[in-house]
Order: sequence, then C-alpha cells, then structure tokens
Amino acid sequence: MAYDDDNIFAKILRGEIPCDKVHETEHSLAFRDINPQTPVHVLVIPKGKYVSMDDFSANASDAEQADFMRAVGAVARMEGIVENGYRVLSNIGRDGHQEVPHLHMHVFGGKNLGRMIKPIDK
Ligand code: AMP
Repeated sequence: MAYDDDNIFAKILRGEIPCDKVHETEHSLAFRDINPQTPVHVLVIPKGKYVSMDDFSANASDAEQADFMRAVGAVARMEGIVENGYRVLSNIGRDGHQEVPHLHMHVFGGKNLGRMIKPIDK
C-alpha cells in the first residue's frame, strides 16, 4: 500500500492539527489517543512515512527502528505503568482493523487489561 500523505497522523506530524504530545525523539512522536480505551492510552508513531509495521520493519533504517522501540519503552516509564504492567499493540491492515494508515503502536495501561483478545470463531 502506498503512503497517504493526507492521513491524520501525517497531518499531526506536519503540525496541521494538534496532538496531546507525551514524548518526542529524533525519529518518533508519542501522543495521547483522542478516544482512550484505558486510563493510559498513548500512540507512538515514527516520523517517517511508514504505513504499517510491515512497511516499517522492512524499510526503515536501523536508527529509526531502534528509536521507535526505545520511544515505546520510554513512554511506558514516563506514564508510570511499568510496575503494574501494560500492553503494546499495533493494528495492521484489513484483518488487524487498522484505521489510520501510518504505523502506530498503542500503549495501553493504568488498569488490569484482561486477556489479550477475545476468543472468536475461526
Ligand atoms: P487503529 O488504526 O485501528 O489502530 O486506530 C487508530 C487510533 O487513532 C484510534 O485509537 C483513534 O482513537 C486514534 N486517533 C484518530 N485520530 C486521532 C487524533 N487526531 N489524535 C489522537 N488519536 C487519534
């Protein structure tokens, strides 16, 4: 899938729409989800134009990938959710129900999150 420059996170990165910024590094930006599902719900995105984890893992530089993983860990520490635990999740593509076509990692925490996913019919 080609990168869509009009996606909402691209607009945030260009400063065209605001975000509630939590953390910023050379290659990554973290901000609060506009519709939080848990007491802590932060999105971590690379600044580069990557559609998904598939695109990012195949095409981003080592520096970008290291920066992104470090940013995810830093956000969890900054939000105070490391001791009790938390969840990171990235929705990818159609089956993953990805709504915004710019890679983002959800960081969920601040409550007991229950089992990972609901059992569904195969
Ligand atoms: P998904 O692509 O399914 O992983 O979900 C996209 C996420 O982006 C959802 O949790 C939305 O609430 C969130 N979202 C959409 N627009 C914004 C925005 N302008 N600022 C922060 N979060 C947003």
